[in-house]
Amino acid sequence: MSIFNWFSKNKPKEELPAAQVEQAEQTQAALEKTRTGFLSKLGRLFTGKRQVDGDFLDELEEVLLTSDVGVETTVQIIQNLEQRVSKDAYVSEEELHELLADEIAKLMPDIQMPVVKDLHLTGASSPYVVLVVGVNGVGKTTTIGKLAHHYAQLGKKVILGAGDTFRAAAVEQLSIWQNRAGVSIVSHGMNTDPASVAYDAVKQAVEEHADVVIIDTAGRLHNKVGLMNELSKIRRVIEKFKPDAPHEVLLVIDATTGQNAFEQAKQFTAATQVNTLAVTKLDGTAKGGVVIGVSHAYQLPVKYIGLGEKAEDLKLFNKYDFIKSIFVS
Ligand code: GDP
Ligand code: GDP
Ligand code: MG
Repeated sequence: MSIFNWFSKNKPKEELPAAQVEQAEQTQAALEKTRTGFLSKLGRLFTGKRQVDGDFLDELEEVLLTSDVGVETTVQIIQNLEQRVSKDAYVSEEELHELLADEIAKLMPDIQMPVVKDLHLTGASSPYVVLVVGVNGVGKTTTIGKLAHHYAQLGKKVILGAGDTFRAAAVEQLSIWQNRAGVSIVSHGMNTDPASVAYDAVKQAVEEHADVVIIDTAGRLHNKVGLMNELSKIRRVIEKFKPDAPHEVLLVIDATTGQNAFEQAKQFTAATQVNTLAVTKLDGTAKGGVVIGVSHAYQLPVKYIGLGEKAEDLKLFNKYDFIKSIFVS
């Protein structure tokens, strides 16, 4: 099947270590809902298709829109497909697979420096500073806990900053993850200045030669100016220690919120310099299109996907594996 040719042509050149191959298989299993929902609807649309005509494009448009890919990205995909087949409307099913895979891959940006692509932090400026943003309930604290676990397992020295000083249980929730992962935390308790938490966390990381600092924040979206001020203040105090930090500003979105995720991305990219995306709760939705749509519309590379509530349920995202799932059952 020629999607495999496309995949081997396009996948990153480095060979995946065995652990990552295994991870890719687990990801396939955890993505079951998305695979049997959105992705298989797409795959099925192409089965036996030989002609890209108006009916086909209408059906494709409907699948994309009802799967939360979003209007902008859907229109782009349709237009690009139309253009590519305009000379020769009759193509093989395999060619159609390749065309769609190609179009989706092209729309999803890749990670740019200074963000490190893996969990090993090779080549990262130390301490590597991650600021985690997003509205309440999307999974920020959980994602931080999972990351702390992964980095700790790799023998990295981790310091967490309890910068969500707004919600009652937030500090305690982060402490639970911190204890479980066996890492350090800087916490000033509730209703304290989150910038001060960030300052102390990065200061401690520099003094103790920690590898990574991950800072939690409150997801207040009801007041955009307040959010902007808070996030830029946090950035300012971090930059005092490390002018190149924060290296990663990770926006967390919840895949089950659908179109709402687009609005959140809009607000947060306006409020701060977001440079990566984590899409959580993909285990709980059949409409995984938000992964493609938000990434494309806001030009944010997806770095992680959340596939459950446990520490091992955070996966590095690979767009080629994700696209391959569309055509492989
Ligand atoms: P925050 O307010 O952004 O910090 O969100 P939390 O980290 O507190 O998470 C909110 C809820 O979502 C919690 O019950 C988490 O266990 C749950 N959650 C987070 N990530 C995932 C995920 O990938 N899958 C599932 N099923 N639940 C998740
Ligand atoms: P401001 O509070 O609007 O003046 O913003 P700043 O950028 O000056 O500081 C924000 C927060 O970070 C402060 O409330 C402090 O808690 C903390 N901070 C900033 N600079 C320092 C410093 O030099 N020492 C200490 N201990 N904390 C600092
Ligand atoms: Mg939280």
